[in-house]
Amino acid sequence: MLPELQPLITVERIQQKVNELGDQISNDYKNKNLLCVAILKGAIPFFADLIQAIQLPLETDFICVSSYGNDTKSSGVAKMVLDLGHSAEAKDILLIEDIVDTGLTINYVLENLKTKKPASLKVVTLLLKPGSLKNDVTVDYVGFEIGNDFVVGYGLDYAEKYRNLPYVAILPKELI
Ligand code: 5GP
Repeated sequence: MLPELQPLITVERIQQKVNELGDQISNDYKNKNLLCVAILKGAIPFFADLIQAIQLPLETDFICVSSYGNDTKSSGVAKMVLDLGHSAEAKDILLIEDIVDTGLTINYVLENLKTKKPASLKVVTLLLKPGSLKNDVTVDYVGFEIGNDFVVGYGLDYAEKYRNLPYVAILPKELI
């Protein structure tokens, strides 16, 4: 059985926020060439829910970047593991991320995507940690600002586990 963790952000709050973000993005991207790009693997549940909350035609693609390994601290080095499958030229890319902490990952991915000559490039993250405020990170849409604790669930893992929790929870120290 999955352990029952105390939710930091409940299923209901996630759903409500996803709908709000979907409405906002639908407004902002009218008559654009929207390409939603998920950063694998953590963003999968958020990506799946968010694209259904966007009431516009859109395309999807994926990239995979690794930075954490099996640790709760960033290795400080991001590495592209899987690149986009299709051309992004002249598309309005919306990069969909689960969590921005130091901003290293998102900045690395943005630099890479800029080389693909998109018409525009924006970022939506479900969660934002205060660490990113210290660095030069631009995030256009934010679901929730949280503290510095290591969180799991709704796509977020610890050593590849807990991604299937439907809510976001702080990982208790005894489980690390
Ligand atoms: P950054 O490069 O912004 O420091 O970290 C971003 C990446 O680190 C995210 O894509 C995510 O994979 C991972 N990450 C950062 N904070 C957390 C956290 O609290 N929990 C989990 N599971 N992953 C995190």
